[in-house]
Amino acid sequence: MKQPNDIRDLSFSELADYCKQIGEPVFRAGQIFDWIYQKGVDSFADMTNLTKGLREQLQKDFVLGPLEVEKQLTSNDQTQKFLFRLSDKERVEAVLIPTETRTTVCVSTQAGCKFGCRFCASGIGGWSRDLSSAEILSQILYVKKQAKQHPLSHVVFMGTGEPLDNYENLLKAIRVINGKEGLNIAARRITVSTCGVIPKIQQLSREGLQIELAVSLHGYSNESRKVLMPVNKKYPMKDLIEACREYIQKTKRQVTFEYILLKSVTCSNEAARELGRLLKGMICKMNLIPYNKVWEFDYEPPSPSEAIAFKDQLERYGIHATIRVPRGRDVGAACGQLRHTNQVPEPV
Ligand code: SAH
Repeated sequence: MKQPNDIRDLSFSELADYCKQIGEPVFRAGQIFDWIYQKGVDSFADMTNLTKGLREQLQKDFVLGPLEVEKQLTSNDQTQKFLFRLSDKERVEAVLIPTETRTTVCVSTQAGCKFGCRFCASGIGGWSRDLSSAEILSQILYVKKQAKQHPLSHVVFMGTGEPLDNYENLLKAIRVINGKEGLNIAARRITVSTCGVIPKIQQLSREGLQIELAVSLHGYSNESRKVLMPVNKKYPMKDLIEACREYIQKTKRQVTFEYILLKSVTCSNEAARELGRLLKGMICKMNLIPYNKVWEFDYEPPSPSEAIAFKDQLERYGIHATIRVPRGRDVGAACGQLRHTNQVPEPV
């Protein structure tokens, strides 16, 4: 028997169409979205302003369960990591990051990752499948309920997987996150991070969204990037930078470059000089991410003073850079530490 659709896979207009089809007024779609995305209910029975008949019909046609949580860990810095088990037993992770002023959720878009960056844990077990937009949204809905000091305000697509490699489902989810009938989170508070899938960056520039684009650069030259990121063979650095320049021109938005700090590899004077040359005149900023140790790889992070020295060098070459403070390291929730299988034992 065919599994009923998850109602969170429907856009607002698809749900409005469904309401019309079953002879319900269109405003019901607004009520249903409000129950799911604002009030956060997990069952149709709880949608008390709908008629009993409609609730039963929804129950017959759709599912709306919460994600099953297999593990939940809280870091000393209050970052929380959630390991979810999907209906086919795949596992994905999301992270809740509270700060003084905001609450951010970091979500996964794929079970595993195809791209195999040489410093990232997500690619170690390979790729299993794309997540549906319902699965992406369900992570956010779950984490939203755990937010304490501040309500959920920001969404970053920096969990497991490559968001732009799951483009349709990503965009569908973003429209619900951003939509006023949905989660109603401003586009500027939604960040998509990509390893540099050029055709999709171009497509994204045409969507008319004001979201933040973060591009994982990590290399300071074509050669250095190729070693760290196999995707650079298909989409070389020069073309990527060109695509970013076009993106900025088209969207009038700045791009953030993510740049990993690997001791003796990516933070030399030469690297700073090359980056200065490469990014000259671009409306961009750089987010420096000190390497988070993944035990399968041999790299080391630089010392804090080396990291600061590199940042200062970049500033001298005209690049505005900030060093990202790692969060949730002790629970394996920091950048690159997420792995979807959760089956590889940690070293003792
Ligand atoms: N596929 C997307 C999202 C990846 S996760 C992308 O490539 O951008 C978000 C960021 O964390 C990326 O910049 C990624 O390269 C970086 N990252 C991965 N592993 C890391 C590690 N071990 N230490 C520091 N940053 C890491």
